[in-house]
Amino acid sequence: MNTLSPTSWLQALPRQLAALDAQQLRRTRRTVAPQQGAHITVNGQPMLQFCSNDYLGLALHPTLIEAARDAALQFGVGSGGSPMVSGHSTANAALEHDLAQFLQLPRALYFYAGFATNASVIPALVGAGDGIFSDALNHASLIDGCRLSRASIQRYPHGDLAALEALLAASPCARKLVVSDAVFSMDGDVADIPGLLALCERYDALLMLDDAHGLGIRGPQGRGSLAAAGLTGAHASPRVLYMATLSKAAGAAGGLVAGSEDLIEWLLQTTRSYTFATAAPALLARALQASLRVIADGDALRAQLQARIQQLRTGLQPLLARTGWRLLPSDTPIQALVIGDNGAALALMEGLRQRGLWVPAIRPPTVPAGTARLRIALSAAHTAADVAALVDALQALADQGPAAEAQ
Ligand code: PMP
Repeated sequence: MNTLSPTSWLQALPRQLAALDAQQLRRTRRTVAPQQGAHITVNGQPMLQFCSNDYLGLALHPTLIEAARDAALQFGVGSGGSPMVSGHSTANAALEHDLAQFLQLPRALYFYAGFATNASVIPALVGAGDGIFSDALNHASLIDGCRLSRASIQRYPHGDLAALEALLAASPCARKLVVSDAVFSMDGDVADIPGLLALCERYDALLMLDDAHGLGIRGPQGRGSLAAAGLTGAHASPRVLYMATLSKAAGAAGGLVAGSEDLIEWLLQTTRSYTFATAAPALLARALQASLRVIADGDALRAQLQARIQQLRTGLQPLLARTGWRLLPSDTPIQALVIGDNGAALALMEGLRQRGLWVPAIRPPTVPAGTARLRIALSAAHTAADVAALVDALQALADQGPAAEAQ
């Protein structure tokens, strides 16, 4: 039993916050405002940003803005109720139809937020007595969903299918759920989806994939990581639950799940954040319908994004050997430059900030201890000159060495 009185618990908060400071783990929020392309203001200062998940630059796309504005005039701003009561507008229904078609999966559900989707879909699928098998680098929202479910959770080492198979083989649970990011949010690498599915078939498990960072980017016409693996349309498997967010490449907000009719109907009936949360506003649904069309026609945007990714990776190569920094393998817009030490990563972020470049340092507990990093997020909105400016600045900071960076 906790013997602290509520007052002493509250009195401890300043010390706990000071401990965060001592470990350089206290996070600060800055206010940002868009300017144009990848240019923003941060606390009023103009900056070139490499921190947004708006990978195709669609958040500011005129077609999406117009769709949202028109929908606001027609539907108002708020949805007014849960989808099960009054919030499921004709716009939201049309979006779900379009999502299923776009993803080439039988049926889709649209949630107001990606985080809430994961946190409550997993408890709707499994519970006490069931088994969850979760990649060690899965996103926090998946981890929370696993914990809320009260199923037994086995974490397997990142991407280690042999370890996963050993756990599945030894599991006494009748109902098994394998959960994985499709594109890992802090490393930028991708899951072996056919390999995961083969194991799920062998051990009669359901596979849930979080493609927050793959939708719009990977696969033919940006249809996502499942399409990239050839597992949609006629090849869709009823034992896959596809999940993605609409807050990243799709340029708006919300979460989605898609899969077989039965699976989606079950989630419609039982997912608490669907039933008990106000539906996403129709203006977002309409913006997202427009976004799906831009994404499907967006090969030029994806080619531009790939060119920036390759430019960055090639540009950083000469720096790696002499700094000890590690650029993790990734052909996605998430490029992780691992520095190691929390303070060194923060100092580098600060050095870039002083040069007008906004790149977040990501520290534990978001990433494992000792792997603090710059998480460089690229976008089709970046020009070649933008990426060259980042490479030049990192080069200059590397030339100055750690002492100069820390100033
Ligand atoms: N899954 C992953 C892999 C994510 O990176 C995120 C967002 N960072 C989420 C889910 C949550 O989605 P949202 O931010 O749209 O709520």
